[in-house]
Amino acid sequence: MKRFKGRGAYGAVAIGAASVFSRQKKEITPARTDDPEAELQRLEQAKAEAVGQLSEIYEKALKEAGESSAQIFEIHIMMLEDDDYNDSIKGIITGKSVCAEYAVAETAENFARMFSALDDPYMQARAADVRDISDRLIACLCGKAEVRAELSGKRVICADDLTPSETVTLDKDKVLAFVTAHGSSNSHTAILARTMNIPAVIGAGREFLSAVTDGCKMIVDGHTGEIIIDPDEATERSFLEKQRADAENKALLEKLKGKPNVTKDGREIKIYANIGSVDEAAAALENDAGGIGLFRSEFLYLESKDYPTEEQQFSAYKAVLQMMEGKRVIIRTLDIGADKQADYFGLSREENPALGLRALRICLTRPEIFRTQLRALYRASVYGRLGIMFPMVTSVSEVEECMAICGSVREELAAEGIPFSDDIELGIMIETPAAAVISDRLAPLVDFFSVGTNDLTQYTLACDRQNPKLERFADPHHEAVLRLIELSAKNAHAHGAWIGICGELAADTTLTETFLRMGIDELSVSAPFVLPVRQAVRNADLS
Ligand code: PEP
Ligand code: MG
Repeated sequence: MKRFKGRGAYGAVAIGAASVFSRQKKEITPARTDDPEAELQRLEQAKAEAVGQLSEIYEKALKEAGESSAQIFEIHIMMLEDDDYNDSIKGIITGKSVCAEYAVAETAENFARMFSALDDPYMQARAADVRDISDRLIACLCGKAEVRAELSGKRVICADDLTPSETVTLDKDKVLAFVTAHGSSNSHTAILARTMNIPAVIGAGREFLSAVTDGCKMIVDGHTGEIIIDPDEATERSFLEKQRADAENKALLEKLKGKPNVTKDGREIKIYANIGSVDEAAAALENDAGGIGLFRSEFLYLESKDYPTEEQQFSAYKAVLQMMEGKRVIIRTLDIGADKQADYFGLSREENPALGLRALRICLTRPEIFRTQLRALYRASVYGRLGIMFPMVTSVSEVEECMAICGSVREELAAEGIPFSDDIELGIMIETPAAAVISDRLAPLVDFFSVGTNDLTQYTLACDRQNPKLERFADPHHEAVLRLIELSAKNAHAHGAWIGICGELAADTTLTETFLRMGIDELSVSAPFVLPVRQAVRNADLS
């Protein structure tokens, strides 16, 4: 039995087998062959197997995620069958008398380099695809089963770190828990784990990764950050007991469903849910959220291999609005950049990506992307009660520009005879100190504020939210952060706007009473926290 400790990102206990997620590639050496013909035959067999796998994945993606997400696998099949790609592999096998694995790896690198050197960002992004299909082909040549196929039953996913896009593309039905060796508990991966209701421990350390093996039994305690590999019987019993206690507590919270979010002295607050995909709206309803306080629309972009079209976005937004049946749904415009990267945006490397070209800054520099999203949002607005929110605001002029673009999108749609609601709330995130400090100037321009405490903490305390070494300094309870929230609340109300909090701090029940006293009107949390926050509100007495 071995014990490790990280930071609990989402509280629950999971017990099950490990699956080590590795993106490290095996070194492929140019093994010589005396029989190139045999290598060519192996190549053909492996290719047929890879095409078969991709066709299966295509069908599954089509059923579970729709045409737009499935399309990429069709493209992968076409790339595998591309003549230039195949001629290059065959030429290397016969010309250099080397094994097929090496010929595929060399071709992949040559093609990827060629794609990366092109000016067109769309073509540059194809470099990742050619590497992806080549890895699959090499795995088939090596006789390795597909990673997805190896995951029988639910597993504890163990990784050095996971990017947000890796996390969203994991098959959620097969994930029992996440454990990462690195990463910070404020990262989007940790946030996703919470949203997906999956126990997670972040930053378990390098030694953990050396100790864990595929299939070994593990206990993951997302409350305390404890991880146990190969537990003895007594330890397993004690954690099973903890699991039972969690279940009982959950049953108690269930009783709060349908009850109002009112303090003992009668103050009411709204409790909404944060979501990252259409599917998660179901969890929001299941946990009795009063609405959606933050739909991180960028996950539509991260899940996709190319810019989602107006039509694709329209159907996603419409689906959420319809599912929420008239409850308020606040959709945040694209917040890409920093740790949320999509290759096809072709963003150049930055020294300080958190301080770089991200979120609203991308939208204002590339208005065609912004307008496509706004058109989709306005068109979807007739299906429910929509709020649109802009992230990473720092100045009055940015908000004025957003409002002007919204106005011109409305005019365009009206001219085309396309209907949209005339009752859409427009708001901004308060997640930079600049926005909080000038909140008196910003409030008259908008219907609402929503405080993003994750970024507000990062920028106020000068602590990179991705850096696990800074966790002891990145204290979201810091007086400076709380004062900025209070100031924003005061200024919002003075100008007739309402104010919510949608950062992770909204779920911190030790602060619920403080937020109520500041006059916060809404708290938006990952779906599993709706009922715990409701409990905290109902236990509070402000008199
Ligand atoms: C925040 O910064 O608090 C926030 C809600 O946005 P995100 O975590 O997606 O950056
Ligand atoms: Mg943010």
